[in-house]
Amino acid sequence: MQKFIWPSLLLLSACASLPAARPHAFVPPPPPGAPIQVCWVDTGGLSVAGSYGAGGSTVASTWEVTSAALVIRHPKGDLVLDSGISPQAQEEKRELGLWGRFVFAQTAGRNTPRKSLTEALAALGVTQPRALLLSHVHADHAGGVALLPDVPVWLAAEEKQLVEAELEDSSGVMLPAHARAMKERMVPIPFVAEPYANYDAHFDVFGDGTVVVVPTFGHTPGSVATFINVSPQLRFVHVGDLINLRESIERNVGKSRLMRWLTDEDSSRTQQEVAKLVQLHARDSELFILPAHDRPAFVQLFGDAGGGEVPPCIGTPPPSLTES
Ligand SMILES: [Zn+2]
Repeated sequence: MQKFIWPSLLLLSACASLPAARPHAFVPPPPPGAPIQVCWVDTGGLSVAGSYGAGGSTVASTWEVTSAALVIRHPKGDLVLDSGISPQAQEEKRELGLWGRFVFAQTAGRNTPRKSLTEALAALGVTQPRALLLSHVHADHAGGVALLPDVPVWLAAEEKQLVEAELEDSSGVMLPAHARAMKERMVPIPFVAEPYANYDAHFDVFGDGTVVVVPTFGHTPGSVATFINVSPQLRFVHVGDLINLRESIERNVGKSRLMRWLTDEDSSRTQQEVAKLVQLHARDSELFILPAHDRPAFVQLFGDAGGGEVPPCIGTPPPSLTES
């Protein structure tokens, strides 16, 4: 399979800069209202050529991939953002059709398992997260859904509709086991039509500006991005798979043509969302843009993933956690 993919990569790697996003008002984020802690669980990963990750000639010679879960600890409860790759992924893929298996083999299926999400949550003392928030339902984001059996799964209404369609007739865009696991507990994110940063709608999870979700549809029908405001000085936005390497923002390019072809449901809409990220970065250069699979970016934010059960964390444990 790899013999096929690398020549294709060379053929498909040419790219042009993105057209600018249309002008948009910018609403500065309010200062976060509560101390939060955010921890990175590196559930799996791999290393591929940098040109796999972004269009054109990449600065990065390799793309070090993480399939990450983030654990967000807030006084009002714990939130898990994405859940990484399933420890059962290689068994779960057997339900896919030919095309689904092909895409899986080139993308999420190449992950080597690393940290256990279950063990990491136990090491952090997280017993019952308030929700699992999914940037989207691809296999390397929804992989831990069965590990959190009674936890509501928050996703955009458009993504919920995608899962319901997959339950009726699997296209291979997600693993059927994940669709079944979340079937009875999907909760559509209640976006409000009020601007946040350069977006037209948002959902403030805790109502205090610490965790704010915005719609960024295109990579999948209901992909979202999540602003995480740890402190006024430490703010980042998890952008799912809009881009794969941070350099896409500085270089004003999207993902590689190969990854767009393999993984974007609506590539031109995704490119428009990447242009909005470029615009966001121009307006708020202190905001750290975190692509879901850019491992060096996670290391820059969190430090090394380490070898122990306790994952690396940033921020301050909420008082309710430190008092217990
Ligand atoms: Zn994806």
